Amino acid sequence: MAESSRTQVAVIGGGPGGYAAAFRAADLGLDVTLIDLDPNPGGTCLYRGCIPSKALLHVARVIHGTKEAQFFGLQYGEPNIDLDRVREATRGIVARMTGGLGQLGKARKISYLQGRASFLDSSSLKIHLAEGGEEDLSFEHAILATGSRPAVIPSLMLESDRVMTSTDALELPDIPKTLLVIGGGYIGLELATVYAALGSSVTVVEMTPSLLPGTDADLVKPLAKHVAGIFDTIHLEARVESLQEAKYQTGGSGQTGGSGQTGGSGDCIQATISGPGVDGDRKPNRRFRQLFDRVLVSVGRSPNSSGVGLENTSVEVNEQGFVAVDNRLRTADPRIFAIGDLVGQPMLAHKGTREGIIAAEVIAGQKSVFEPQCIPAVVFTDPEVAWVGLTETEAETQGREISVARFPWAASGRAATLNRNEGLTKIIAHPETGQILGVGIVGVGAGELIAEGAMAIEMGALSSDLALTIHPHPTLSETLMEAAELVSGSSTHLYRPPRKKKALCTGTKT
Ligand code: FAD
Repeated sequence: MAESSRTQVAVIGGGPGGYAAAFRAADLGLDVTLIDLDPNPGGTCLYRGCIPSKALLHVARVIHGTKEAQFFGLQYGEPNIDLDRVREATRGIVARMTGGLGQLGKARKISYLQGRASFLDSSSLKIHLAEGGEEDLSFEHAILATGSRPAVIPSLMLESDRVMTSTDALELPDIPKTLLVIGGGYIGLELATVYAALGSSVTVVEMTPSLLPGTDADLVKPLAKHVAGIFDTIHLEARVESLQEAKYQTGGSGQTGGSGQTGGSGDCIQATISGPGVDGDRKPNRRFRQLFDRVLVSVGRSPNSSGVGLENTSVEVNEQGFVAVDNRLRTADPRIFAIGDLVGQPMLAHKGTREGIIAAEVIAGQKSVFEPQCIPAVVFTDPEVAWVGLTETEAETQGREISVARFPWAASGRAATLNRNEGLTKIIAHPETGQILGVGIVGVGAGELIAEGAMAIEMGALSSDLALTIHPHPTLSETLMEAAELVSGSSTHLYRPPRKKKALCTGTKT
């Protein structure tokens, strides 16, 4: 017979959305139960996403740093990589952070249940506890924060541990000599960067004509140029049609070729890749086969809305599986709220965290709403790509008039001292008022710099506000100030002869 208990707020899912919601609700005096499958809160972000990937990207950055040091006359040999230690260090970071979250929950007197929850009805849950047994939990309100999982293309998922999701890849099973990355989005490119730095020969296949589909072309360009030097091949406008287990004919791992013997437990994966973009020859229906030690399928993420008993509630789910919510994170079921990756794009940790805080405040009777002016996005590749607010691509789609000012890092003193002057900072402003509508940055540290753009947009700043704010020298943050100066005509470190009608260095889109 199942144990039964009661709580004011049941939070299902302990990711950055769920644990932030639970903590805020407890801080507001509510009695909270947080349920998750893992032993501590953290979710995808801490256990299988943001944190382990960024720790591994730091390793990649250090390796690249030793190569870049040659410019300054420093010679380092090839790194001796102790893969066990890399894993141990990454797992240690995750364990310390998730353990810390567990402590923060305990300090707030939150009941933590490790198990899988599903709705029995609109006011109670059944929890299959990890330690065995079941518990029925009735609640006044529930916050659903079950997050997302790697999307799969069924035809490409083999029963082979050589075909990995991002979760598998973060475990670093080995350093494959050859790695095929399917998908040129942010997760694929971040993990491709890690494996390339560790020594894999990486091939990326992306369906659209550009890496980071949907991102402004001028931000992608420096990244595309940089990764072209560290990846073996990038196939754009190409698709992986099929994957099959295969065996290297001779010579073992790393060999590529036009045929592989399929079937049985192979020692590699044969990919059939097709598309007009492959090899850049633009011939339609171009198709070839290649053997890889491992394959990473990174084609997006799907919301975890099934298997949670939503059919026993009035919660509505759209065609893509996202739970429908209003701007107070309320679902169609009056007692149930939903947040994070489960409710839609952008599927980013900081969006889920803010939604969690708002949901908790609404349950506690506050008049909070989720109506941010902007949500920043960062791709932690090398160089990093970051944007916030309106993008040029969106402005074009919406037919919106904008002013665009671009400050190339070739004119930045700080970028020169780092010998990394390929970056770009751009500001998208209202053509008449100069209000900052969007900021895009590509370059080392773009992920840290973008927060200033988010602040400017959230506060309704004008480009002149940013231009008049004295920035410390020499820093990359000056590129924001100088881009802001360019919105109204000129900046100290960039001279372009005046044009007749348009502002200096700005592109006015109609
Ligand atoms: P999740 O973090 O997915 O947490 C949901 C939790 O619910 C999980 O722990 C899950 O086990 C649990 N759960 C599911 N069903 C049940 C159930 N029935 N009962 C109990 N528990 C359940 N975002 C960024 O902002 N920055 C980054 O740099 C970044 N890097 C990423 C790198 C990778 C490789 C990946 C995969 C993702 C990355 N993300 C990043 C995305 C980020 O991880 C997610 O946006 C974020 O974790 C979503 O938070 P969430 O709380 O909605 O859900």
